[in-house]
Amino acid sequence: MSSSKKSIEKKQPKKELFLGVKGMSDILPKDADLWKYVWQVGHTTSEVHDFHYIETPIAESAGLFETTVGVATDIVEKQMYVFTTKGNDRLTLRPEGTAPVMRSYLEHHLGYFASPLKVYYYGPMFRYEKPQAGRERQFHQWGFEIIGDSDPFYDAEIIRTSIDFFRGLKCKSLIVKINSIGCRTCRASYRESLKRFYHSKKDKLCENCVNRYDKNPLRLLDCSEEGCLTLRADAPLILDYLCQTCNTHFKAVLELVEDNGIPYEMDPYLVRGLDYYNRTVFELYSTSLKSAVGGGGRYDYLAEALSGRSVPAVGVALGMERVIHVLRAEEIVPHLKPRPKIFFAAVGDQAKKASMRLMGDIRMSGVVVVEALSKKSLKSQLKAADKARVPLALILGQQEVFEGTILVRDMQSGAQESILSAKLVDEIKKRLRP
Ligand code: AMP
Repeated sequence: MSSSKKSIEKKQPKKELFLGVKGMSDILPKDADLWKYVWQVGHTTSEVHDFHYIETPIAESAGLFETTVGVATDIVEKQMYVFTTKGNDRLTLRPEGTAPVMRSYLEHHLGYFASPLKVYYYGPMFRYEKPQAGRERQFHQWGFEIIGDSDPFYDAEIIRTSIDFFRGLKCKSLIVKINSIGCRTCRASYRESLKRFYHSKKDKLCENCVNRYDKNPLRLLDCSEEGCLTLRADAPLILDYLCQTCNTHFKAVLELVEDNGIPYEMDPYLVRGLDYYNRTVFELYSTSLKSAVGGGGRYDYLAEALSGRSVPAVGVALGMERVIHVLRAEEIVPHLKPRPKIFFAAVGDQAKKASMRLMGDIRMSGVVVVEALSKKSLKSQLKAADKARVPLALILGQQEVFEGTILVRDMQSGAQESILSAKLVDEIKKRLRP
């Protein structure tokens, strides 16, 4: 290379690397087993409880959440990723999964499929929050929804299914915090009484709560500012305002929760941030994480806000990142059933070319095949086979390709045997049999 060429290369500016978006994380291969474990337990739990999988797109009309989640909520006021498309549609990345599922239920008349309809979903949600431990801008939720029945049986069924998810994961630190926020009628008188209580104390509330006072006074109860917490201690409690029907409903839910041996505690201040909840509201709380890992409740008014039709429903959303934190905090090691695994070594161009077809056939029989074909020599490939801790290695050279054979090496004893490559899959299955 000439010296002038060298100096041109040196002067080229270093390319700056694109980094991931703030508050949105990669799931890296080192954490894949934990995530796969959660997915596996999640799907099994959902299916044994007879929930059907549903998936909605990550973008929806912004209005879907503005009408349902409530204008006076943090999600709608501050946290949505709203954008306008080239076709002038005002969309948002979904901040939560319940409103989209109800949108889909109404759009596709899913009530004809089953009543009540039991569905589960999994996927990323987006909220423009201040990123911190346990709070991200993209996070994943696993949700269960039972749509079309107001029976307290289904409130308890949602709670039982969520707890079984954690039991399936072998988590021990989960308890349910539960409350009832009544219906339109009893909640209205509670709201008034709450406003009366806070009226003379407005100057002691934090700035956020002063704003919430008129729009959404129930939210004053879930503020974590010290001053607001102190005031809250003397606030009226919703349970004293429940009407007869809401009271009976709540008692029935609690009886079922007790019957199922689910650890729970009453939390009279639990109101949940979203507008569409009524009656039962609950959180799944991890005592080892000291944080909520999921939340849910009954949302009988959501369908009405969207379509004018009354469709009672109940559901829950579990935050997967926090579930992973619980697994780590409780030092739970994923129990994933390992697949049988073999190593494929090929030497020479012909053998390398033939290896793709042969490896593909073995893989299709359910066996994991690993290779290190970028290493040219047999010695270095076999070294990689040692590292991969496989029981069997297959060795293909020029001669074997020509003869239609392949060498099978027992990695423990080092014994090798030549077999016909046409019989390879059957032979491997025989040898890997426990
Ligand atoms: P929500 O939809 O607000 O009721 O939240 C239900 C669950 O989702 C929470 O208990 C968390 O586990 C999880 N979650 C909510 N927001 C976030 C976030 N910003 N980052 C991580 N997890 C979240």
